[in-house]
Amino acid sequence: SKKAIVIGSGIAGLATAIRLHNQGFGVHVFEANAYPGGKLSEIYTKGYRFDCGPSLFTMPQFVEELFVDSKKKISDYFKYKRKDIVCNYFYEDGTRFTAFADEAKFAETASQVFDVSAKEVTSYFDRSKHKYDLTASLFLEKSLHKLSTYLSKDTVKAIARIGMLDINSTLHKVNTKQYKDPRLIQLFDRFATYNGSSPYQTPGIMSMIPHLEQYYGTFFPEGGMYNITKSLYQLALDLGVTFTFETKVRQIIVKNKIAKGIMLDNDEVIDADVVVSNMDIVPTYKTLLRDQEAPQKTLKQPRSSSALIFYWGVKHKFPELDLHNIFFSQDYKKEFDFIFSKKDVTNDPTVYINITSKNETNDAPENCENWFVMINVPGNQGQDWDTIIETSRTNILQKLSRILGVELKDLIEVEEILDPRTIESKTQSYQGSLYGSSSNNKYAAFLRHPNFSRKIKNLYFCGGSVHPGGGIPLCLLSGKIVSDLIKNDKKR
Ligand code: FAD
Repeated sequence: SKKAIVIGSGIAGLATAIRLHNQGFGVHVFEANAYPGGKLSEIYTKGYRFDCGPSLFTMPQFVEELFVDSKKKISDYFKYKRKDIVCNYFYEDGTRFTAFADEAKFAETASQVFDVSAKEVTSYFDRSKHKYDLTASLFLEKSLHKLSTYLSKDTVKAIARIGMLDINSTLHKVNTKQYKDPRLIQLFDRFATYNGSSPYQTPGIMSMIPHLEQYYGTFFPEGGMYNITKSLYQLALDLGVTFTFETKVRQIIVKNKIAKGIMLDNDEVIDADVVVSNMDIVPTYKTLLRDQEAPQKTLKQPRSSSALIFYWGVKHKFPELDLHNIFFSQDYKKEFDFIFSKKDVTNDPTVYINITSKNETNDAPENCENWFVMINVPGNQGQDWDTIIETSRTNILQKLSRILGVELKDLIEVEEILDPRTIESKTQSYQGSLYGSSSNNKYAAFLRHPNFSRKIKNLYFCGGSVHPGGGIPLCLLSGKIVSDLIKNDKKR
C-alpha cells in the first residue's frame, strides 16, 4: 500500500492518521514527545489529575465521525456527557450569573440578572445561528483555497448576505449594538478569546460562536479531556497505524518539487508517498522546509494569544463553582490592549477556573478540588515571564480570595505552572500561541495557510495553525480536509 507520514500526534495529526489509514494508506506517525496529544495532554501530581490544555469540549460529532469512518463503535472507546450549566460568571461588583445550556433558561436568567429582556437575548442567539448556518460549510468544512469552494452554492449564498454577517464591524460593536448592560457586553465579548483574539478587533461574525455553545452544547468526556486524545490514539493503534515517540523530525525531503519523505534527528531517512505536517506551520517552514521558498506574508500574520496556567490542588470544596468558571476583569479593553499591543499582562486579568473533579471525583483527593486557573497572555516574545508569573499569581490570588471570601493561598497544597515558553517548547507552537494566527482582522480566515502546499506536491498541513484554525473541532476538521484533498489528488 502507499505510505503516509504524519509529523506530530496532536489532535489533528491523530485525526489525519486515522482517516488516511481508512483510505488504504500505511500510516506512520512520528512524535517528538513521549506521549500523544500535543496540547491536549494531562499530568498527575500528588493525588491530583489535571488536563493540561483544552478544557472546553464542543462539537463532539467531529470525534464521532472518526469512529464511524473507521467502522468502530465509539462507546467502546469514548463516552461523554452534555452539560446543563455551560459556565458560571463572577463580576467584581458582586454579580453572579449561571449560563444554562438551555437557551430559554439562559435568556430568562439573564433577564433577572442583567438589564435586558429575555427576547433581546434569544434574538441575538437567532442571529448567531443564522451567521453560522450561512458560513460553516464555506469557512470550516472545506479547503478555502481551492477554486471549487468559491464556486459552490453556499459561497454565493454567504456572499449575497454579507451585510448581516457583520464582517465589517467588530465583535464588541455588534454586542454594544445589541446590549446596554456592560456586564452582558463583556460576557458576549469573551467569545473572541475562543480563538485567541480580541473582541475589539475580531470581526462581528465571531458572534456566531455563542450559537455553537448554546445550540450544539458543551460536553465533558468521561475521565477528562485527555480521554479525547487517549481514545483516538487507541483507535489508531487498533486500526494498525504505527507510532514512533521521542523522535523528532528534522526535515521534509523534497526532490523536484515533490515531497519524498522525512529525515529524523538521528539522520535516518524514511520514504513516503505523502507527507502531512501537524507541526505549527511557522517552524514547519523555518526548520523542516528551510531550503524551500516560504509564504512570508502568511507566516508573518500576528499570532493568537497564549496562556498562563496555574494547576492548583485546593484542599477545600466550593459549591458555588462548577466545571467552567469565569471571574471577569473590571477593564476588559485594557486587558486586551495589554495582550495585543503592549504584549504584557494587566494587574487585573480575567481568570478562568476549570475544575474537572466536579465531574470526575477521582481527579482530586477527598474534600479537595483540582483547579486549572488560566489567564490569557500575549505570545512569547522574550518577556520576563518569571516576573509576570509572580505578579500574576499575587493578583489572581487576591482577586479570587476577594470574590470567594476565602484566603486562597492557604488552601493550595500543590502547584504546577504552564506558560508561553513551556507551551512553545513542549509542542513547537510558535510563540506558544494557543490557536495559530489570531483572527484580529476580517481577512484572517483567508490568510491562514492552506491545508496543502502550493509549491510542493504530496505535502499537506493539518492542525491549529493552518486552515480552518485552532481549537479541537477545527483541528479535527483540518484532518478531514487534508484526507479529502489527498483522496482527490490521488484520483488525478
Ligand atoms: P498540537 O497539540 O500543537 O501538537 C503538535 C504535535 O506535534 C506535538 O505533540 C509536537 O510534539 C509534535 N511535533 C511538532 N514538531 C514536531 C517534529 N518536528 N517532529 C515530531 N513531532 C513534532 N481548544 C479547544 O477546543 N477548547 C479549549 O478549551 C482550549 N483551551 C486551550 C487551552 C490551552 C492552555 C491550550 C494550550 C490550548 C487550548 N485549546 C483549546 C487549543 C487546542 O488545544 C489546540 O488548538 C489543539 O489541541 C492543537 O492541536 P494540533 O493538532 O494543532 O497540535
